[in-house]
Amino acid sequence: MATDIFETRESQVRSYCMNWPAVFERAEGPYQYTEDGSRYLDFFSGAGALNYGHNHPELRDLVVEYVANSGVTHSMDMKTPAKRRFLETFERIILEPRNLDYKVMFPGPTGTNTVEAALKLARKVTGRQHILSFTNAFHGMTLGALSVTGNSMKRKGAGIPLTNSSKIPYDDYFDGDLPDFIWLEKVLEDSGSGVDKPAAVIVETVQGEGGLNAARMEWLKELHNLLRRHKILLIVDDVQAGCGRTGTFFSFEPAGITPDIVCVSKSISGYGLAMALTLFKPELDVWEPGEHNGTFRGNNLGFVTAARALELFWSDDSFQKELAGKIEALHSGMEKVTEHVKGSYVKGRGFLSGIAFPEPDTAGKVAAEAYKRNLLVETSGPQDEVVKLMPPLNIPDQDLLKGLGILEEAVLAATGQLGEPSRLRPPH
Ligand code: PMP
Repeated sequence: MATDIFETRESQVRSYCMNWPAVFERAEGPYQYTEDGSRYLDFFSGAGALNYGHNHPELRDLVVEYVANSGVTHSMDMKTPAKRRFLETFERIILEPRNLDYKVMFPGPTGTNTVEAALKLARKVTGRQHILSFTNAFHGMTLGALSVTGNSMKRKGAGIPLTNSSKIPYDDYFDGDLPDFIWLEKVLEDSGSGVDKPAAVIVETVQGEGGLNAARMEWLKELHNLLRRHKILLIVDDVQAGCGRTGTFFSFEPAGITPDIVCVSKSISGYGLAMALTLFKPELDVWEPGEHNGTFRGNNLGFVTAARALELFWSDDSFQKELAGKIEALHSGMEKVTEHVKGSYVKGRGFLSGIAFPEPDTAGKVAAEAYKRNLLVETSGPQDEVVKLMPPLNIPDQDLLKGLGILEEAVLAATGQLGEPSRLRPPH
């Protein structure tokens, strides 16, 4: 079928479709189907936007019903029953049981929108400009978010100096050779250090794009306590690691910390619809009405599916318990795969994990071999040296094992331990 239009008309800025040239037409659960009838197992999940798989039937039915009844689709920040239901459900199922008292802001529908809002709010509240972020961080592509992102290629794309932020070492950046926060602690206490006191520190608990570095809970706790002592705000960017990806709804829950500001997006709608939240402690709610706005802050289809997704998956702990078993299966499967390549190792946490290879280009080859075998996996890290596995959190066990089997074959093929696949998997 024709694919010329993508090459001739669409900008060369596109990237995923360069590695995965298939034209995907339909999708259900962990599978995507191409227009010529092949089936792909999706261990990419829209980079974390599809934590409950594609087109969850109950959520899909709600979308259809809402549209068929002419429910309000676009509403700026006006009141709708869909928004009421989302806010009530979020409060009841997510905030109250976790003892979290956050104001909810709808900042515009993407991850980078919630990061921009968080940075702006931190600066306004503290009256300070400087933001600290971490080596290999990824927070988005708009200028504020880009200024706290690590990747040099992406930063260069800004075309202007990215100022008012500095990078500090993420957990284990010096392979454990230096005590954590030795520099930060010292410069914050030294009035001659020349380091301006920051408004906030922004952190991912697992660096989804930066190579699946996973911070230890003790490290997060220490960061939290250090910032509290110095009255610096802690922003957790849970855009990718949140909504259950690491095994709990918020990725910071096992650390027992309460960030001042939390960025949520990707899977919050439960259905892959664009939606984002910026959560912050009530005392930080110093915005003037309309001081930060945006046309697409009221995605009612997103509110409808988000509320139901929270009820379906988070109203008790049964989904989380089941997920813990799947996480164990994923990790033991990955460990087994690492036995084939000396020096490879498992990285990440929960269902935001992968395998790092000693030769950086191995990961790309593995992803390409996986694609040949109808499995979608992407790479992560400054040199794309990590194969990243992000299956849907509700993936049936047999599909999880199937994906791991294909991954193993792909690793063997990419490292010259197996020939070409004898034939592609038959279309379904
Ligand atoms: N923060 C994190 C941690 C992310 O992983 C991403 C996207 N990969 C973003 C922010 C930006 O989200 P978006 O692409 O929706 O702007």
